[in-house]
Amino acid sequence: MNTTKKHTKPAAAPRGGNPDRRQVKKKKESTLDPKLFVKKAQPSGQEGFRTEKSFDGLGLSSKLLQNILAKGYQTLTNIQEQSILPLLDGRDMMAISKTGSGKTAAFLIPIIEHALKDPRNFTALVVTPTRELALQIEEEFKSLTFGMQLYSATFIGGTNINSDHTKLERKLQVIVGTPGRLLDLSDRKVLDLRKVNTLVLDEFDRMLDMGFVLDVNKLVNRIGKREQTLLFSATLEPAQKKLIDGLLTNPIEVKVTSGSSTNENIEQQTIRVPEGQDKFEVLADLFRNPELEKVILFTETKRLADRLAKKLIQSGISAGQIHGDKSQNFRNRMIDEFKNGTIRVLVATDVAARGIDVADVSHVINYQLPMTMDAYIHRIGRTGRAGKVGHAITFVN
Ligand code: ADP
Ligand code: MG
Repeated sequence: MNTTKKHTKPAAAPRGGNPDRRQVKKKKESTLDPKLFVKKAQPSGQEGFRTEKSFDGLGLSSKLLQNILAKGYQTLTNIQEQSILPLLDGRDMMAISKTGSGKTAAFLIPIIEHALKDPRNFTALVVTPTRELALQIEEEFKSLTFGMQLYSATFIGGTNINSDHTKLERKLQVIVGTPGRLLDLSDRKVLDLRKVNTLVLDEFDRMLDMGFVLDVNKLVNRIGKREQTLLFSATLEPAQKKLIDGLLTNPIEVKVTSGSSTNENIEQQTIRVPEGQDKFEVLADLFRNPELEKVILFTETKRLADRLAKKLIQSGISAGQIHGDKSQNFRNRMIDEFKNGTIRVLVATDVAARGIDVADVSHVINYQLPMTMDAYIHRIGRTGRAGKVGHAITFVN
């Protein structure tokens, strides 16, 4: 391991990039009311997702416009409609909008436009809570900037830091990463955070909670003065107000919600498994239904994730697992296999709860009650994305 000493010692606060580390050893039980997890879907379809407004009217450069259309984005989503213009104007922003509502492009499009104006002097830093989300954001950036000679790289834990040095030899307009690795590179003086003009905290409520806030504060202090700060998430933690105010200057607050914080395209139901009944059998039984085509199964612990994946495979159900104890190569392979349908079930800890965008996840199953409502919102938000209908099933005792 090539990390610097300062950052390899997880002192009082656990290191970022690995939400699993926050788990306390002794068994904790969720105290959430199971009634919270039952809700009929009220699918608003494409109408609730997209507006009528086309991207033409934004005055974007023609190459970017072409790339947007090539991605199949015909009209702006609600959050894109409300955020792109003020962001192009250089405003700071805190934006809250449902899971799967197109927040990534909402912050990337203005960033790309700014980068184009002055590519040699522009650097945006996008910070995320998980490695997979960082990779996904860079992928979206790459597809939006195809042929535009703008450059990006992702810096995340679990990868060889020496190749990061090479990536940093060229001018990068967009840097994506998880806090720990970004700090390591800054300690090594290969990443100059003072050059960052635009800072984005995606999933910002997670970035500002106790698992990450120390690292994020360090990053923010090293960046110092900047032109623009953008905070995006589907959920807001009221206790973070002071922290948020400290990050933003004269911000615009955008909230695209329709009352409830879960996405209304998701049909939510619970399954009661009384004490004494074999929970795994109930689970395996569910998979007789072919409608459970592409399923993320959340568990509270890494051990249980491993065990369930194994048992599913033994039952003839193709499955894989993703959690913080797996190597980054393994994690990437699992995401790929889940995306391309090689595996039907991805068993995951909360490391996969935020931001991950896999097309057409049919069901999210919570094998155990999540500890917080926010965890629940993000987990089930892996389905019902981009205006599609999804299903969430939560096991309760
Ligand atoms: P969020 O960050 O809000 O959870 P994402 O940015 O991951 O959502 O986007 C969710 C999905 O919607 C992605 O698959 C993305 O490609 C798609 N998407 C984003 N913007 C548009 C658009 N304007 N039109 C159609 N699809 C879009
Ligand atoms: Mg997102």
